[in-house]
Amino acid sequence: MRLSDRKNKKIIFIILAILSIVTTVLCYFNSAHFGASGVLKIFGINLHVQTLNGILQALQFAFLIVIIIVDYKKGLKFGHLLLAFQFLGSLVPMITSGVYSSLPGTINCIIVAIVLVIAHRQFRESEKAEKTDRVTGLFNRYSFEDSVRNDIKAWTDGFVAYIHIDGFLNVNATLGRTYGDQVLQIVAKRITDVVGSKATVFKIEGAEYALIVKNIDDCEAFVQTIIDSIEEKIILYRNDNPINVYVSAHVGIADCKYGELNGTILMKYADIALNHALRSKDNKICVFDEEIHATADKQLKLESLIKEALDNNYFYLVYQPQFVIQDHSLRGFETLIRMKLPDGTMISPGDFIEVAEQSDLIVAIDEYVIRKAMEEYRDVVIAAGKSFIISVNVSAKEIGSAGFAEKIIELVEEYDFPASCLEIEITEYSISRSIIHTEKNINILRENGIHVALDDFGTGYTSLSQLLKLPVDLLKIDKSLVDNIKDSELNQDFVKAIIYMGHLMGCDVIAEGIEDEIQLEIMNELKCDFVQGFVWGKPDKFEKSLTYCDI
Ligand code: C2E
Ligand code: MG
Ligand code: MG
Repeated sequence: MRLSDRKNKKIIFIILAILSIVTTVLCYFNSAHFGASGVLKIFGINLHVQTLNGILQALQFAFLIVIIIVDYKKGLKFGHLLLAFQFLGSLVPMITSGVYSSLPGTINCIIVAIVLVIAHRQFRESEKAEKTDRVTGLFNRYSFEDSVRNDIKAWTDGFVAYIHIDGFLNVNATLGRTYGDQVLQIVAKRITDVVGSKATVFKIEGAEYALIVKNIDDCEAFVQTIIDSIEEKIILYRNDNPINVYVSAHVGIADCKYGELNGTILMKYADIALNHALRSKDNKICVFDEEIHATADKQLKLESLIKEALDNNYFYLVYQPQFVIQDHSLRGFETLIRMKLPDGTMISPGDFIEVAEQSDLIVAIDEYVIRKAMEEYRDVVIAAGKSFIISVNVSAKEIGSAGFAEKIIELVEEYDFPASCLEIEITEYSISRSIIHTEKNINILRENGIHVALDDFGTGYTSLSQLLKLPVDLLKIDKSLVDNIKDSELNQDFVKAIIYMGHLMGCDVIAEGIEDEIQLEIMNELKCDFVQGFVWGKPDKFEKSLTYCDI
């Protein structure tokens, strides 16, 4: 039984109210009618009114303590009211009749009132500590979420904003956390100084602040003044020597009119706007609008569909063969995910992978794919004498996060899958996200015999110098470079240069999206090692893919 349940709380309040009425009445009658020697007969037992009153009062205080613990705000209010009644109920008859038999009750009331005041202060202090960020002294994320969720119904205008501080992690990494904390405090002060009484400022995550603003017409101009002040030079001192630090800020804003009176949605929209701002090259401020609204709505629906698909098995895998270009022998298969809804609708990975990457759903998808592919192919690759490769795509988020390689190695061991038959495909985009973890993960994977391929190569995220540092086994030339290779000499030269560079780096090179014999012939001439494309094989279900295996 949970005392904090609404129904149970109500029962406790009712019991408390009845006890209070009875004790107050008894107090009054005790003094006014029975005097010190009043006796009542209850179930054949003679009880002094005073004794009965004492028992009831003790019970009442016990219930009062319970109700304060489960709901201290209401409990305290109720407690004060009760005590006031009881106090009067015991004091008035004493004054009017001159009989002091209810004096212990009056003193009890005074003592409990003092205890309530102390409890009130304690609860207020701990509630404040719970809602405060220790570093900056601002209200924290819980307080922000509570405020938005509880107050939104009363808002007619206003907006919430997330402020992301860029460059803070650099301060932490180069100067240490003490200096990082100082930066957070200085930024907090600058924001509060600029907003004054026009907004409430919160410190939410690591280097993120939030605002609740009301009655401001031009929210973008208002936020711009905050960004300007954050981006001014920060001077820290190490051994009395000044160190200049610069941070910048991106802001996502959501007007409360988009919240549909739901705080959780409004915060999500502000978050989406912040993500837009972070990804934008030109704008540091993004205001959630109809266009983003439509995209976000689609995204939210797709997210819940992905969750449903994971729970109900709407996903399955298809495998596309890869061949050695010179002799058409099988190199292996690329694993590609498919989503099929119960009504038969197919949703392309091009649509849902990006959405999954923006939430954490991609982690579950990637794990599903790796498990399923190993489960389906384990016996086949072993029977073939471990001679071909099963390649799986992983998201940039995964390969760029600490511990990813170890997770893959654990899975390989769990399935007893030959490590040398597994290939992890990463995209150029992952390198631009987190080069340090990506590099580390690649090294660990390769040390354990797992191949690493660089997918969508040539789509433009990676600088050449970064690329040369990456110890991958295979470069996958993107279909977009292959598409007009027949007509463009420049494209041919470009692809030739990539193949040459790949070989210099000690990698093999595969061309993706080869659809006809002419493209195939050109790739062969350019000394590309492998080929993957509709010309020699489309993605197909596991059973069909076995026809390429000759087993
Ligand atoms: P990708 O990894 O570059 O996969 C190659 C895409 O090109 C596949 O599309 C494949 O069907 C298509 N393709 C291959 N050869 C040809 C061809 O000759 N002509 C044409 N027109 N297309 C060809 P698909 O399966 O729709 O996948 C699209 C993208 O979605 C993939 O690009 C990959 O980035 C992502 N993806 C697919 N499956 C997974 C997965 O299991 N996990 C993750 N994280 N991403 C996946
Ligand atoms: Mg791929
Ligand atoms: Mg690709």
